[in-house]
Amino acid sequence: MFKLRGHHLFCLLGYRGMGYSQEYVENMTRLHRTLRNNPKTLIQFVKGPDQLCEKYPNSGEYHCQNEHIYERDAVILAKMGLEIGQILKWEDIESRIRKHVIPSDIQVVCETCSWRSFGVCEEGIREIHDGKGLREVQ
Ligand code: SF4
Repeated sequence: MFKLRGHHLFCLLGYRGMGYSQEYVENMTRLHRTLRNNPKTLIQFVKGPDQLCEKYPNSGEYHCQNEHIYERDAVILAKMGLEIGQILKWEDIESRIRKHVIPSDIQVVCETCSWRSFGVCEEGIREIHDGKGLREVQ
């Protein structure tokens, strides 16, 4: 089982192997691959820093404790009818995304994120709607 904060559910959809450091990318790629290969993997929703934040590099600003990131987590969980502490299979999270999320939500929910302009997160949501699941990352 993995422990994830709300906004990382969306980040995983747009993940294409880019990240803050090599260690961060290796960790995220491992998680992403596990979910892709086994969509029945369990996820527990946590408040604040999670198993991806653990590998956020020490250099530079540590944004994982920023208030607006907590707000983003809360908005995303509420949007999908999810709560802190709840445990769901990844495939059920994908179902919730199909039911409650549209690609343009990224423009609003993730307005201040520096990765947003790449367009990959919106693309990831579109692919979930198309029933494609997570995209393969090399
Ligand atoms: S725009 Fe940023 S916060 Fe939003 S899903 Fe993409 S990477 Fe995550």
